[in-house]
Amino acid sequence: NTPAPAYKRVMLKISGEALMGDQGFGLNPPIVERIAREVQSVHDLGVEICMVIGGGNIFRGLQGSAQGMERTTADYMGMLATVMNALAMQSALEGLGIFTRVISAIPMDQVCEPYIRRRAVRHLEKGRVCIFAAGTGNPYFTTDTAAALRANEMACQAILMGKNGVDGIYDKDPRTNDDAKRYDEVTYDEVLRKNLKVMDAAAIALARDNDLPVIVFPLDVEGGFRGILAGNGTYTMVH
Ligand code: UDP
Repeated sequence: NTPAPAYKRVMLKISGEALMGDQGFGLNPPIVERIAREVQSVHDLGVEICMVIGGGNIFRGLQGSAQGMERTTADYMGMLATVMNALAMQSALEGLGIFTRVISAIPMDQVCEPYIRRRAVRHLEKGRVCIFAAGTGNPYFTTDTAAALRANEMACQAILMGKNGVDGIYDKDPRTNDDAKRYDEVTYDEVLRKNLKVMDAAAIALARDNDLPVIVFPLDVEGGFRGILAGNGTYTMVH
């Protein structure tokens, strides 16, 4: 008897770096497929899934501007990187037989769909995974903020932040501190005050102002994503 999923519609946010494996750059197809199978296992529960994938495995705006590039141009390059990651994930999901739409904040009709809110909602209702690409479409923002924004627009019940190497939020870095303690739950304000590594401040504020829970869970543990929905995962909830 499978327990009912805790949520009907969720936003899964993963960083671009989650897709690169240990090669240090770009996309690692077996890793992309592994994450696609994690998504499939949640899709199998009948949960409607939105995704936002970062672009840091290919390009980060800040890194470009540090090298003398104009910041806004560098940010647009970062947004384009997220489109590549989204297409790779779409390809992996469709390889598993899951209908998937890539929906871009910056229209590029030959490549993917433009963002039209009602249309995206319809896709979700039909059981299609929606991958929101190109961030918010604006420079100076991050894909964390894009995840919080689209999660609100799509009426998701939670943002699930999949992280590698951690199973939640700790009071200090568990990799370098033996006495680090994992929070089961923590408030938005505590995350902001203590500058805990969850998502950037703008994204946390957007979640807080709309009472949207943020759940940090281990992406590199098999069944970690499904565990949240099935009620047996390890995680920290920010609410
Ligand atoms: N970006 C942006 N606006 C957005 C989302 C992303 O300008 O709304 C750019 C920004 O330059 C960022 C890059 O896209 O560095 C990649 O996104 P992010 O750093 O959030 O990716 P992640 O760290 O999650 O892989």
